[in-house]
Amino acid sequence: MAKLYFYYSAMNAGKSTTLLQSSYNYKERGMETILFAPRFDDRFGEPAIYSRIGLKQQAVLFDPSFNLFYYVDKKMKEMENLRCILLDEAHFLSKCQVAQLVAITKKLGVPVLCYGLRSDFLGEPFPGSSYLLAWADELTEIKTICHCGSKATMNMRIDSEGRPVKMGKQVQIGGNDKYLSVCMKHFNEMVGSIEGFAFEMVEV
Ligand SMILES: [Zn+2]
Repeated sequence: MAKLYFYYSAMNAGKSTTLLQSSYNYKERGMETILFAPRFDDRFGEPAIYSRIGLKQQAVLFDPSFNLFYYVDKKMKEMENLRCILLDEAHFLSKCQVAQLVAITKKLGVPVLCYGLRSDFLGEPFPGSSYLLAWADELTEIKTICHCGSKATMNMRIDSEGRPVKMGKQVQIGGNDKYLSVCMKHFNEMVGSIEGFAFEMVEV
């Protein structure tokens, strides 16, 4: 039975590189793949997935209204040797689209590999990741490290002067903000004092 896989990590752990390598491994063996990426991520022009180390491959862009199941079902009639679906920035999926991915694995029999973040710069879960964590057949963490050497699990948004950003929209497009991957201890120290923060220390 084909499975739904969710490879999750903090920012800059090499998710896109891992995705492109996995796709390459299929293609090297004469098997076809389809790559998906969110539509707003076409800032480089050509619809493709890019890795920080210079790899790239053409991708189909999806927005919240895009039906992934119908697209793959239709493509299977054209692509005889379609063996794998790979999806980048999977945290931007809707609940409905995660359900479509489940259907691709269980009704169409094609494995789906999703790559994405668990939480945003305020520590809040992304809807897509919540359902992938709940419904994927296999969960795998791609590890990266905080500046202190501990495993980084959180994403800190920093402004142009390097200060942690403590409010704002979950998705920020085209800004100058950057992200740092940090461990929970340093995330709490640097971001965690804001009102309403999900991980305020609870006395027990
Ligand atoms: Zn740390």
